[in-house]
Amino acid sequence: MMGQPNLLLGCIADDFTGATDLANNLVRSGMRVVQTIGVPQAPLDTAADAVVVALKSRTIAPAEAIEQSLAALQWLRGQGAQQMYFKYCSTFDSTAQGNIGPVTEALMDALNTDFTIATPAFPDNQRTVFKGHLFVGDVLLSDSGMRNHPLTPMTDSNLVRVLQAQCGRKVGLIDYRTVAAGAQAITQRIAELRADGVGIAIVDALGNDDLLRLGPALKSMPLVTAGSGVAIALPANFGLTPSAAAAQLPPAGGMCAVVSGSCSVATNRQVLDFISAGGQALALDPLRIAAGDRVSEQALAWARPLLAQGPVLVYSTADVQAVKAVQGRLGVEEAGAMVERTLADIARGLVELGARQLVVAGGETSGACVQALGVSQMQIGPQIDPGVPWCHARTAAGAPIHLALKSGNFGSDDFFTKAFRMLE
Ligand code: ADP
Repeated sequence: MMGQPNLLLGCIADDFTGATDLANNLVRSGMRVVQTIGVPQAPLDTAADAVVVALKSRTIAPAEAIEQSLAALQWLRGQGAQQMYFKYCSTFDSTAQGNIGPVTEALMDALNTDFTIATPAFPDNQRTVFKGHLFVGDVLLSDSGMRNHPLTPMTDSNLVRVLQAQCGRKVGLIDYRTVAAGAQAITQRIAELRADGVGIAIVDALGNDDLLRLGPALKSMPLVTAGSGVAIALPANFGLTPSAAAAQLPPAGGMCAVVSGSCSVATNRQVLDFISAGGQALALDPLRIAAGDRVSEQALAWARPLLAQGPVLVYSTADVQAVKAVQGRLGVEEAGAMVERTLADIARGLVELGARQLVVAGGETSGACVQALGVSQMQIGPQIDPGVPWCHARTAAGAPIHLALKSGNFGSDDFFTKAFRMLE
């Protein structure tokens, strides 16, 4: 298998929407980016400067996360990637068992490198690091909503301590004063830390300027670990500057459809906005799905004559009370899985009917739809709203489609109409 000769950056992301977030930042800084769903079985099929392999490894057992991450690393090396980037959440989502520390150390071992950095700082998204402490907006991580997260409660904002608990290697700090002094000072500090036996350093960053000063100091580092913020500083190391060309996708065609399984406040508003603007919309009733009605067939029969006239929306989006009522009758997991399956069937059916521009609302819903369509690689295009770019992909059946995968709370109220207008 021939590696792609000019792949610059190989990225491993620990979840799907986090991967898109990283890809979006890289594109905006001038890289052509492909995101893959899981570790690909085949070589890259599109020219790219960076590839982001999206895993679902944030909360699985550490040994499994390591195995998947090493498989991603091996594939990226096979494609010729010059530098590796391990991407985690900007709130450093992890437990005392991991998986940020164990995966970082496994990647360091595999790359035979004795030093890397770690910083979740993402100032554009109100995530800053000061003296090693992570702030979410105006409060410490440990005072933010993350302290009650169901899977990865974060009760300590001192990242040196948090990461040290997950690592065998010594964890240190490159503080804001060093970062403010510029790349040379950072490089010198790295040499000192190394001499002290430190293997991983948390890096302070209060604003994008700090990340841009950090960038040049990372130039020859085989592995960088971070949230998506550091991505804004890496393309320049390869001589790339922001350009619209990086976000260019093949021309869009075909019909337009939205499938929405998110029940977030933002998505509820977006559904209402689409309907009040005169859009054709069909609501799905989870209880009818549970009763065995042929809900997806009926939805496709409804959509067939309408698709040619403009975008159609099929949604299970509902307010908190309605969702609670359904969950009470069907169970939380069962209701979720059943609705996801139905929406994914409908997404596939809509594409079979000729939809070639598809917006999916909901993180889990997006995962189910992408899987049903057999999409394994997506080229990342222009940003519709922060964190949500248009992407271009091929389905397993070979149909070229434009996809926008919107995680719950993202996007302005008119997102569903705005997105299609952008492709006109
Ligand atoms: P978000 O990004 O907003 O969290 P997700 O798609 O990740 O959206 O999650 C929404 C979950 O809610 C999915 O599992 C989906 O199947 C489920 N769901 C969607 N509509 C309903 C509904 N009306 N009642 C109960 N569960 C629903």
